[in-house]
Amino acid sequence: MSVHDTSGTPDRDPGETDLQASITHAIAHAIEHDQLVLHYQPILDLRTDSVHAYEALVRWNRPDVALVPPAEFIPVAETSDLICRVGAWVIDRAARQLADWNNDTGNRRLIVAVNISGRHINTPRIRDDVAAALQAHDIDPGQLVLEITETVHIDEHAMDHLNELRGLGVGLSLDDVGTGHNTIDQVSRLPLDSIKIDLTYIDPTTPALRETLQQLVDVAHSLGLAVCGECVERDDQLALLRSLGVEAAQGYLLGRPTTAQELDGRLSRQEPPAGEPPSGES
Ligand code: C2E
Ligand code: MG
Ligand code: MG
Repeated sequence: MSVHDTSGTPDRDPGETDLQASITHAIAHAIEHDQLVLHYQPILDLRTDSVHAYEALVRWNRPDVALVPPAEFIPVAETSDLICRVGAWVIDRAARQLADWNNDTGNRRLIVAVNISGRHINTPRIRDDVAAALQAHDIDPGQLVLEITETVHIDEHAMDHLNELRGLGVGLSLDDVGTGHNTIDQVSRLPLDSIKIDLTYIDPTTPALRETLQQLVDVAHSLGLAVCGECVERDDQLALLRSLGVEAAQGYLLGRPTTAQELDGRLSRQEPPAGEPPSGES
């Protein structure tokens, strides 16, 4: 698969490589031509054993190409302010989807979490993008959670922006805690409501890893933060989360990311999301 075709009219940044420029322009073209799509992955509330939230994950539906995963274009978008346009599109589309689900189900408590780059958080426009989406789609601010991954350094202005976002009433979560990008130090520094811990490398049968997880959970809880364990693929990982008093879980064991259309029927019938077969997402 190639994401390197040039589309649209180039508008060069000095220092940008030809390859980067062509990918950047192809992504800008994708936003303008409505080629981005969101898939939604269920998040299980372990206290009630019900799905209370979905994480919106972007994909690029390139014509004549298999669905492009975010790892193949988000890092390029993050090298320029293009990531803010991607983020604004994601926030608006997720808010619109929430409004549709609110209308269809009459349930205004469902939460959608979106991923926001540190680069977008560093700009004052993050507040405007969130406020515009909340107003345009008339959703409760508490229904929207911003997941922050610090692949781009969060600067000193970001703290003000995060506090403004909290003032709007949206939830803030730190993604990928413990993976190297987001350290335990960040957890105490940022104004957060929750953290997500990636369980990919957490094997419950290894005491040292279990210990690490326990420490992360304890620090979060001591700061009053809820914890979600993600990338849960096995029953023993889920059992470990429960034993540590973790509030939420997400992963292929509980349901794969899927389209909004696929979820519409389940939400209106109040069915729990079924785990899809490994090749289920495309
Ligand atoms: P993330 O936010 O940590 O999202 C979780 C990733 O893990 C998703 O990959 C999801 O499909 C995958 N995953 C979920 N459950 C399991 C599991 O049980 N096992 C395994 N192995 N993986 C699982 P995806 O959708 O490819 O997204 C990758 C990353 O791309 C995201 O990590 C996030 O950092 C970034 N991303 C996705 N959508 C957006 C977006 O709209 N904006 C930005 N800025 N970044 C995004
Ligand atoms: Mg995330
Ligand atoms: Mg994550």
